[in-house]
Amino acid sequence: MVRVTKTTPMMRQYLDAKAAHPDCILLFRMGDFYEVFFDDAVTASRELDLTLTARGKDQGEPIPMAGVPHHAAVGYIRRLVAKGFHVAICDQLEDPSRAKGIVRRGVTRVITPGVVLDEDSLDAKSNNYLVSLAASTARDSDVTALGCVDISTGELRVCELQATDAVLTELRRIGPAEIVVAEGQTAGLEVFSTSVDALLTVRDDRSASLERVVKAAEGTLLARREIGQVAATLSTSDLRERLAELDAHHLRDRAAVDAALALLLDYLMATQGGIPRHVGAPTVYRSEDFVVLDPASAANLEIFETLMGGKRRGSLFAVIDETVSAAGARRLRTWLSYPLIDVPTIRRRQGAVTTLVDHLAVRESLREELGRASDIQRLCSRLTAGQGNARDLVTLRTTLAVVPTLRDLLDPLEDDLVAELRAGLDPCDDLGAAIGAAIIDEPPIALTEGGLIRRGYNADLDELIALTTDSKQWLLEFEAAERQSTGVQSLKVKHNKVFGYYIEVTRANLEAVPDHYIRKQTLANAERFFTPELKEREEEILTAAERRAALEYRIFEEVRALVLAELARLRGTAERLADLDALAALAHLSARRDYCAPEVTEEAGIEITAGRHPVVETMLAAERFVPNDIVLDDQSRLLIITGPNMAGKSTVIRQVALIALLAQIGSHVPARRARVGVVDQIFSRVGASDNLARGQSTFMVEMTEAAHILANATDRSLVVLDEIGRGTATYDGLSIAWAVAEFLHDELGAFTLFATHYHEVTTLARVKERVRNFNIAAKEWNEEIIFLHKLVEGPANRSYGIQVARLAGVPEPVVKRAREVLANLESQDYTDEDPTIAREYDGGVPVVRKSPQLLLFGDRSPPTSEPGPPRILREIATMPVDTLSPLEALNLLYGLQKRARKLVRDSERAVRPSTRSASSRTRRPESGAWPSSPLAVAVTEAGRRRAGGGGQ
Ligand code: ATP
Repeated sequence: MVRVTKTTPMMRQYLDAKAAHPDCILLFRMGDFYEVFFDDAVTASRELDLTLTARGKDQGEPIPMAGVPHHAAVGYIRRLVAKGFHVAICDQLEDPSRAKGIVRRGVTRVITPGVVLDEDSLDAKSNNYLVSLAASTARDSDVTALGCVDISTGELRVCELQATDAVLTELRRIGPAEIVVAEGQTAGLEVFSTSVDALLTVRDDRSASLERVVKAAEGTLLARREIGQVAATLSTSDLRERLAELDAHHLRDRAAVDAALALLLDYLMATQGGIPRHVGAPTVYRSEDFVVLDPASAANLEIFETLMGGKRRGSLFAVIDETVSAAGARRLRTWLSYPLIDVPTIRRRQGAVTTLVDHLAVRESLREELGRASDIQRLCSRLTAGQGNARDLVTLRTTLAVVPTLRDLLDPLEDDLVAELRAGLDPCDDLGAAIGAAIIDEPPIALTEGGLIRRGYNADLDELIALTTDSKQWLLEFEAAERQSTGVQSLKVKHNKVFGYYIEVTRANLEAVPDHYIRKQTLANAERFFTPELKEREEEILTAAERRAALEYRIFEEVRALVLAELARLRGTAERLADLDALAALAHLSARRDYCAPEVTEEAGIEITAGRHPVVETMLAAERFVPNDIVLDDQSRLLIITGPNMAGKSTVIRQVALIALLAQIGSHVPARRARVGVVDQIFSRVGASDNLARGQSTFMVEMTEAAHILANATDRSLVVLDEIGRGTATYDGLSIAWAVAEFLHDELGAFTLFATHYHEVTTLARVKERVRNFNIAAKEWNEEIIFLHKLVEGPANRSYGIQVARLAGVPEPVVKRAREVLANLESQDYTDEDPTIAREYDGGVPVVRKSPQLLLFGDRSPPTSEPGPPRILREIATMPVDTLSPLEALNLLYGLQKRARKLVRDSERAVRPSTRSASSRTRRPESGAWPSSPLAVAVTEAGRRRAGGGGQ
């Protein structure tokens, strides 16, 4: 990359900085610009639409260069980071006007997608996680440790995972912006980073040594510290203390956990100039303590975003997120990502929600107050990183001022969790008072220009303020005093830029000038003097503004240090505020949408009375959502749900999954009554989606998801399958659907909701004990279909697909033709040689037309239904028996027999109409007469339905 022939000292500085950060785009501060050079310049100009220029054209080969103004750098950095680049900022470490020789420069920050603090780059309602993965190096361990940190909130956690699936599931829950791994462990990791759309950053192996990282914590002294940009980092002993908390946990593979933590902490040191002090002690969690929702199921259930378009609106989270603060929204999101399994914990959370539902006035006031609270976690992270300003301190004070009101509000509520949260709310009065005493109510954003600190807080500062603001007055007073002591009434005290402050006396009055006046300048008709007092004052005035700004900054730093010394208390309060907001949001949701508190139990099974789909019900404008009952228990483990298109099959099966999910986060649920036996996993295979990016067809995706479910579901799992087997040929699909249903029932015993258009699957209920059939009722009236959306026991026998197509605006000729083809199909009298399926009609009478499409079925004329003996007899009569080979004759005989058998069967059924099976799809003649032809039967049936007499 480096092609300089002659290196200037400044370019050497640049090259050194770049060599230390080869993977970053290095922004190099020069005057009012951040410049980028060489390949970085080419990249940055392309990505940021900057003009690419060149530097040092006259010194050998020109160096490509591009630049951004320093005051606008944040926006450019944000854009680069959003595109997945690492950006290193090389700042000036001293004031250029005071520098001797070349200005010292150093890298003060490295910004990557996983370590963003800039408020505008962060989504207030989501965490921004950096994740590390460390596979065990022990031969007898299959653990992959996962570390996770959000430096914008200080959250740090770690867990041990055993299978690739588990790692993927956990990554999906977390949704990291960036994943760090050690060099030797990259095999197979791309799949993780691409599946969660995170940047993969590979660190050298040394990054995975925790002891090395801990030792290094003390010694970290980056350029950034030198210019006061790192306000508070952890020392080696702090870090040891925090990591010691891991000892209390039983870890399967401590070495892997240590390696994962080392990767994270090392990365923080490298990018932040130390480990920010607000990063908490690592929490250890077990993924088994939470309901497993694999990535496909979570996507299918549209928990955080819709399947089509990936929009937040239309997702479950968008409906339940009634929080009033960003921290509350993040907390609720985490709860929804980690539904609980432990019944007492669920009940405890639900109890708090119920209490807040029951106390409307408290809830309303609580939400109002919480809405006033600002995001303490993110605010502390900015202060820790040296990025916060005086406004942040004022915001912190006003937020803390809300806490006593909250405590009073919650006092009367009798609920364990609420009481515990209330007790943990620390108003941090001392901090509020310290901030209030020092910082004015509306300080400017800039920290170095003064105007931050109250008068009366610091005597020196008051004097400086007086000097700057009151200097005019002082000069007037000084002038008056001098006039009086000299008796020269024309004496003036003046100021100019070149000579500073002086006393001007006209030539006529020079005799009155006292001895202590020192001559400064002689003019034509006046002399200018100064006195030691005026000189001193002059210096004071000239430096006062500068000194004032510096002193105010120092006081700000002192107050900030007070705050940073109490990060643990602030964090504690922030956590509880977030919890309270999330609980109050669930309570508000319950009251607003008429939810009920489900009974959550250890006992297996789900019973829902008048359940609704939490999202669909909010989308219906004119129509009212029709509630449905569902019972999944030991006698009904597999519910097969059939019914017309658009009836609401997908809706009802998904709503069961969403109700279980809501129940297990401690929420109330959209139902009149519900009992939810906790489930360990929720699987959902809904709809069809191609994963072309990963080279998988619709059907392949479907089968991969099905395979995953069949490999992992247990008898405590909830499985929601919609249209399984639809992506392939009818018989293949039906066979797969059947076999999958059987396996779920026989081998896994999982609670399963199985929506299908393969009505044949409903017969499973006849042979399997714990299978029940349900269908969603619809009525056909005047060729229109009326959806009742009501789940009733028993199988459906029609899909009304054509009616739905008509409803959707498919052109009438196509709808009409589809009806004909359906009738042909249902006649079940077509074979490969006989293209009955393609027949056309005119007024109910088949049209004889040799159309090109018939060639699909062989080049034969379409059969007709002219009067006379049945076609089969005519065919036998005209058979060229003499010229047939024995094999041809045998085949012909088989074919004739097959058709004859069918005709016999049909005629028998036709004379016994009462024995017709409800699920049969075959249409029969109206009378018991020998049918003129199967086609005629179909025509009759079709005509009957067209006349409005059909429908079942
Ligand atoms: P298909 O077989 O074509 O996939 P489906 O039976 O799965 O259809 P859904 O997609 O569940 O049907 O529902 C279709 C639409 O019907 C929904 O978008 C919703 O507008 C409406 N709907 C579903 N269930 C109800 C209900 N219980 N009450 C009112 N409207 C409902």
